[in-house]
Amino acid sequence: MVAPELLSKINERRVLEFIQASGPSSRAAMVRACGMSAPTVSKAVASLVRRGFLEESGLSEGFGRPGKLLQLSEQTANVLWVVVDAGMCWAGSARLDGEVSEENVRSFSTPETYAELLSAIEQHLSDFVGGEVSTLGSRFRGVGVSVPGLLNSRLDRTVISPNLHLLDDQSLASELSRRLGLRCVALQESHALCVGERMYGAARGMDDFAMLDVSTGLGLGIFSGGRLLTGNSGMAGEIGHITVERAGIRCGCGNRGCLETVATDSAFVREMSHLLGKSVGINEAIHAIRSGRVDSAAVVERTVDYMAIAVAAVINVFNPSTLFLHGKLLASDQAIFDRVLAEAGRRTLKPSFADCRILQSQGNKRLGAVAGIIGNLADEMAPSMAWFEPGGAKTISAPGGE
Ligand SMILES: [Zn+2]
Repeated sequence: MVAPELLSKINERRVLEFIQASGPSSRAAMVRACGMSAPTVSKAVASLVRRGFLEESGLSEGFGRPGKLLQLSEQTANVLWVVVDAGMCWAGSARLDGEVSEENVRSFSTPETYAELLSAIEQHLSDFVGGEVSTLGSRFRGVGVSVPGLLNSRLDRTVISPNLHLLDDQSLASELSRRLGLRCVALQESHALCVGERMYGAARGMDDFAMLDVSTGLGLGIFSGGRLLTGNSGMAGEIGHITVERAGIRCGCGNRGCLETVATDSAFVREMSHLLGKSVGINEAIHAIRSGRVDSAAVVERTVDYMAIAVAAVINVFNPSTLFLHGKLLASDQAIFDRVLAEAGRRTLKPSFADCRILQSQGNKRLGAVAGIIGNLADEMAPSMAWFEPGGAKTISAPGGE
């Protein structure tokens, strides 16, 4: 027997999720789609309007007795998001249906210190309310943050961030929550990619898939049996720190020869910089292989081989139905992507490889941060697994590179 109050909250969540997925809708459409009675829908709508999630749109549907369409409240049904990465950070706002518009995106160079990072995030987010941090709560429901490194969910702390040590031993979500006066949830960046892809990208409806991020670091997110694999304390998936070169270069984690030091965009950039005799970024490195300015064949081959080793390891261990790859080098050239696939095919157990599709990821970390806070808000509203179920949200195109 479900308590009436809980049932009301579950109904509210269903109505809200329907509008998030379908856009402005009439009460009649909600009755049809949610399988609830008209009085139940009306009661849920009234509560959601009172709490600032929904508003009447001014548009109406149908002939005869037109019903006003309900939509997400423009002013108060919004969230904030932050992506922290080595080199660059992004911050912005999003609607409660996950839509991020480009004019609401800010980017800034990653500061040198943790204190400066906190200040920069606070400053960029407060821009959305004319600089008045204390009024953020009147427009936004929470903040989702994507962070690199090992995020220990039991300790609520980044215990080590190999590529951004200023986050070591810091509780970014708690600190931001305190400063901004908003609910704040942090997601490890590979987990963010995973959750974003499942809520808004190409993994909608998938229960067993993997997300291999080969951009800055090498991260892995696994959905198995419909759940994100977190391990004992949220630190599962760190395949980037297994040793593949016994006497390889020093990794940000302190070990030598980690997979992350050879199978990532960062590794490719490091080797291309060496070849070009100057420090370049990923876009310039990709441009250099296209222009033929230097003989980059060996560098590309080495990167492709190690990326294939990472792909093979993930498929052998987790047997995903689909493996999404996230990285700029792979996204830049279909031929390079195909070479990784061919090499992975040679290195993976044949039946496991045959059972797995390998695709480019469509999402990015910002969608993951948005999905993280929206999912968290929904879970707080009422318990339901429906949030992550097939077709639970619309596909959101994901401009932006992070
Ligand atoms: Zn390492």
